[in-house]
Amino acid sequence: MTPILWIFEDQLSFELETLREYPAAPVLMIESAKAFSAWPFHKKRLTFLASAMRHFAEELREAGRVVQYYPLRKKGYVDSLSAVREVTKKFRSNRFAVVNPSEHHTRAWLDTLPAMLDIEIEYLPNTLFLVDRNDFRDWAKSLKQPVMEFFYRRMRKQHNILMDGDKPAGGTWNLDKENRKSAPSNLVVPMLPSFKPDATTQEVMDEINRRFAHHPGSTDGFDLPVTRNDAKQFFTNFLDQRLPQFGEFEDAMLTGEPVLFHSFVSPLINAGLLRPMECARAAEERYRAKRAPLNSVEGFVRQIIGWREYIYGIYHTFMPEYRTRNSRGSTRELPAWFWDAKTDLNCLRQSIGNVVENAYSHHIQRLMVICNFSTLAGLSPQAVNDWFYAMYIDSHDWVVTPNVIGMGMNSDGVALGKPGVVGTKPYISSAAYIDRMSDYCAGCRYNPKVRSGEDACPFNYLYWTFLHHYRDLFSKNPRMAMMLKNLDRIPAAEMKQMISARERFIDQLPVYPPSSMRA
Ligand code: SF4
Repeated sequence: MTPILWIFEDQLSFELETLREYPAAPVLMIESAKAFSAWPFHKKRLTFLASAMRHFAEELREAGRVVQYYPLRKKGYVDSLSAVREVTKKFRSNRFAVVNPSEHHTRAWLDTLPAMLDIEIEYLPNTLFLVDRNDFRDWAKSLKQPVMEFFYRRMRKQHNILMDGDKPAGGTWNLDKENRKSAPSNLVVPMLPSFKPDATTQEVMDEINRRFAHHPGSTDGFDLPVTRNDAKQFFTNFLDQRLPQFGEFEDAMLTGEPVLFHSFVSPLINAGLLRPMECARAAEERYRAKRAPLNSVEGFVRQIIGWREYIYGIYHTFMPEYRTRNSRGSTRELPAWFWDAKTDLNCLRQSIGNVVENAYSHHIQRLMVICNFSTLAGLSPQAVNDWFYAMYIDSHDWVVTPNVIGMGMNSDGVALGKPGVVGTKPYISSAAYIDRMSDYCAGCRYNPKVRSGEDACPFNYLYWTFLHHYRDLFSKNPRMAMMLKNLDRIPAAEMKQMISARERFIDQLPVYPPSSMRA
């Protein structure tokens, strides 16, 4: 019996194992209203995924495949189960073949279907990622702490990328230290290419606006590529226009520049439109042709074959309990301004504003502004995780969960005092870091140089009181020694003032969620 190939929204690739294995099998694709409304997803995220799915279905048809596609608009298919029942009858087959889903909850749900619907599901490997989940698990479990840097070096050697023989190109594995320049205010940043929505995308936008009007963000201004060809063009533009300066300004933040020199290819790779290794190899070619410096290329390759694959491996090694980890027991809900960016902390206004408008901000805004604040203010890692999952155009559970609970909030130890998995220390800073790496403080009502008093920047008193509170815990970590040394220099009277300021600040935070988001 020929199986029906069920393809999900993050598997939009002709290289799927199911398509290779069964060249004549029909395809099932579903825009599940239930999945689309399971979280308050940003309208641009929904637009991107639904439009990319519809375009991919069309390409499959052009390639001769029979595709049974259930769009959101079709009446009568309120959930995937009805669609599965219908295709089972239509194609006279109760066999399905699926590429192993990237997300834990999708696989767990699929595993319930055979008994419920009297079907069989065959799982084929997910080769849209470079790592094999079992190999990664064996590697991770063999180490006391599975550090990304070791994994990354392994990947470089294994795939022979940026290698000169058995040595790293240029003699150094990691050039992160060269990638920490702040951006001058007169820096010229190339414009991102724009892909005007076609009739299909326009139809999706209309549907999203009708059905998910209460979701955050807007479809206005959506101009991302939604096909592989356009995605390739978008990526080539990055290689030509932004890769050369990507490295030096990788950690910089500038008002009005949500992308700066970053590639912005994460949504495209995560949906299957681009392949990780083709992106990494193309960047290496630029280095070999002397068209991009090594610090830029190495930084990009590390993001793609290092960090991305590492995070995917961590997710599949430690889920499902990983998602519930909260080593400091932080339970505070999100301030309401996470959803509309209406805060007088300018760095958060800019960073969250980028997300509300574009469903995107680059990694330093995510790590050193939004997650930094969330950690210092004692927000619940699960609430922050859900926010990232809902709001970002490149979000999928496998990428968000280890990045937020692990890297961003350093909450992935099994208990207080137990080491986390992803990070060896919390990524926290006072206003000094944000002031050095951005132009945000110049436009802020707070003073980044002041720790206490009327104009004191909240990042300062939140940071110092956080360190003060967890002093015993952090004193066991040699990487925190310098921070604690500086903490010891603060007079007791000033610490008292900062503790009061912290309490006042936390007390006045407007709490999430506005009722409109509870739907
Ligand atoms: Fe952010 Fe403080 Fe700088 Fe204002 S002064 S932008 S709150 S770090």
